[in-house]
Amino acid sequence: MPVLDASLIQLAQRKRLHYKICRKCGARNPMSAEKCRRCRSYNLRWKKREIARR
Ligand SMILES: [Zn+2]
Repeated sequence: MPVLDASLIQLAQRKRLHYKICRKCGARNPMSAEKCRRCRSYNLRWKKREIARR
């Protein structure tokens, strides 16, 4: 498999792992979310998970 593909997959995985979590109800929200879609709270925090290395 070409090296380029591997880096692209890694980038996609990183983006997928970045999302916002509501401090109030714990709901997951998209990166672009300004407020929680469940309880409409603005109290969101970033969730950044690192990719597990093989
Ligand atoms: Zn919420």
